[in-house]
Amino acid sequence: MSEQAGLRIEVTGIVQGVGFRPFVYNLAQRLNLRGWVRNTSGGVEMEVDGDRAALDTLIDSLKREAPPLARVERVNVTDRSPNGFTKFEIRASQESSGFQPISPDIATCPDCLRELFDPNDRHYRYPFVNCTHCGPRYSIIRDLPYDRPHTTMAGFAMCPDCAREYGDPADRRYHAQPVSCPHCGPRVWAVTGDQIIEDQEEALRAIRKLVASGEIVAIKGLGGFHLACDAANPNAVAELRRRKNRPDKPLAVMMADVAAVTRHCEMSGAEQAELESNRRPVVLLRKKLDSNVAEEVAPGQCTLGVMLPYTPLHHLLLERDDAVPYAWVMTSGNASNEPIIAENKEALAKLGHIARAFLLHDRPIQARIDDSVVRLELECGRLSPLRRARGYAPEPIRLAWQSSPMLAVGAELKNTFCLARDQYAFVSPHIGDLKSYETQQAYKQSIAHCEGLFRVIPELIVHDLHPDYQSTRYALERAERNGLPTLAVQHHHAHIAACMAEHGLPADARVIGFAFDGTGYGTDGAIWGGEVLAAGYKDFERTFHLDYVRMPGGDLAIREPWRMAFAWLHKIGYDWQSSFRKTEHAGKFESLRQQLETGINAPLNTSMGRLFDAVAALVGLRGEVTYEGQAAIELENRVSPCEPAAYTFEIGDGVFSAGPVIRAILADLKAGVRIGQIAARFHNGVAQLVVDLASEIRLQDGLNDVVLSGGVWQNMTLLAAARSGLETEGFRVFTHQQVPANDGGISLGQIAIAHHALNG
Ligand code: ZN
Ligand code: ZN
Ligand code: FE
Repeated sequence: MSEQAGLRIEVTGIVQGVGFRPFVYNLAQRLNLRGWVRNTSGGVEMEVDGDRAALDTLIDSLKREAPPLARVERVNVTDRSPNGFTKFEIRASQESSGFQPISPDIATCPDCLRELFDPNDRHYRYPFVNCTHCGPRYSIIRDLPYDRPHTTMAGFAMCPDCAREYGDPADRRYHAQPVSCPHCGPRVWAVTGDQIIEDQEEALRAIRKLVASGEIVAIKGLGGFHLACDAANPNAVAELRRRKNRPDKPLAVMMADVAAVTRHCEMSGAEQAELESNRRPVVLLRKKLDSNVAEEVAPGQCTLGVMLPYTPLHHLLLERDDAVPYAWVMTSGNASNEPIIAENKEALAKLGHIARAFLLHDRPIQARIDDSVVRLELECGRLSPLRRARGYAPEPIRLAWQSSPMLAVGAELKNTFCLARDQYAFVSPHIGDLKSYETQQAYKQSIAHCEGLFRVIPELIVHDLHPDYQSTRYALERAERNGLPTLAVQHHHAHIAACMAEHGLPADARVIGFAFDGTGYGTDGAIWGGEVLAAGYKDFERTFHLDYVRMPGGDLAIREPWRMAFAWLHKIGYDWQSSFRKTEHAGKFESLRQQLETGINAPLNTSMGRLFDAVAALVGLRGEVTYEGQAAIELENRVSPCEPAAYTFEIGDGVFSAGPVIRAILADLKAGVRIGQIAARFHNGVAQLVVDLASEIRLQDGLNDVVLSGGVWQNMTLLAAARSGLETEGFRVFTHQQVPANDGGISLGQIAIAHHALNG
């Protein structure tokens, strides 16, 4: 008999709710090992007796053969003498003070999908079929360890068949916490007017029929409600926009399958892979000219945000049938500026004036979560998250350091917060704009929930330098209440640090950071947004910035880009009042001039986002916007791809000016140059500016790493041009691939800066 030994092993990472214990169990059976395995709130632990060689194989396999959704980070092995175990078993969970990351919600896997449409399977047409490899996670977890009583499935007692699968280590559903079937699990029903349709198939038929006939319906999903209608029906889409009070902002479309997507959109290999991944985000794709998806879905844009079905219910709703549309608008079910609705009662009360019917279910949603939105860089296929939520959050970002427990509260728009401890940064799912009371409430609830879930008791609260952000107010009030220290972080420094952190740059790293965005509070009290920083985690130097220009009307100039166009014309000394006196805005010229000359209600700003707005307005594309970034997005959509020319910025001492760019655009307009070419020359000009400034800083400081962050970099046309220009010049370029370049990434940057400010 070979040498017998005993081991105690602790595994950390995402190892709960992903089939890790059955995997260990099966491994132990195969290797003829004895002992036990169990979940702790810190991960998974086991004690194992057996042959020395077999134990070595076990350790090796724990990392190499782990189930698909697992992320093994550390395997801690301690020797101990054999215990004399006679069999291997899975034991009940052990609560402890540790913590462990939890898996995001995962789209229905191929095995479950097959069962969903197999008449001989007991899960046939069951809208909640799931297994260890798929299904809800974050959205249903109330507390850790991840066990059924700690989820919103606690109220559903398993039937004997489900209990057998749940208890059988050889089964795909072994210890899959949300497991259920038509006999024992949640169910769906429909409500139309006064009528309740209890029968599932009748309910599905009714909803599908309503969508086919041009009606708007509300559907309870995984992380909240969707409002849905036929994406190919212009009237239905227009009506949805009118009722939701959302004039222009693009709506996401769910398409039945890849074949449907191919019919409507161009798609690269990388885009298709992301679309079909088990994260199932909304992917921005180029819409084909002959697509019959209504123009109203994404007005003024040549892209379409598309996702595939990601729950069994979606698969049933979009099941192919000639009488039913296979492209549905699926937009968040919420009142304007409020968080996505997650409860049946609230949906019935608040969406009744929008939806003709409701498809409801009775599996409670613990943590609401929106759909994620991503773009991919065309040439290289790199992922660029625009909104990080379902499928991605709350998977932690691995930090290159060990963090003390802290909370970073993020910015104001597209808010996320971030909790850090040990080597993890838990960036929250997208919260939204903290303007409304409801969103602020959801924000505070989500912070409390995540602090509990990730076992973070903050010792420091980090916030933006902006004194009037709701997040800043929350931070100061909370710090006061809990007697905690706070740290204020400059917005654009946070943008750059966020990108450094997600790429794991070391503590002494120094980069050339292009923080281009719409708005951020500067250290001089002005509104910044065209900042070129020589930055490390600890500090930054503002090496260049866009020349200050006034924002006539203050925030009004954000909603009315024509004001920014005239501000620039005024700045370059152009006689705009007589040249544009026949335009619709002429009546406001006098007050505009006064604002520009006195500075009253016209704060100084250096925002690149506002410069994009100004150019869009100047070329006549858009004088007013209904959502943030609209003018810039529409300008990008007009870019003629083959135009080689570029406008030239003027680079001075620490300042770059768009004056010559504005003059060149005026000349081109006069010469009848098409908008597409002007848009292209502007994009090329900004990309060239970035290369020129980076080269100048490299000459002075020897820095060679470039970070591109801030909302302007959601513009893939600009990003691709800048990247290629920089790489040609030998720069190393870092862009956002895990958190958004927009303000959704700010909280991670705040965490990174705070850590390095405290340590060294
Ligand atoms: Zn599955
Ligand atoms: Zn059952
Ligand atoms: Fe920003």
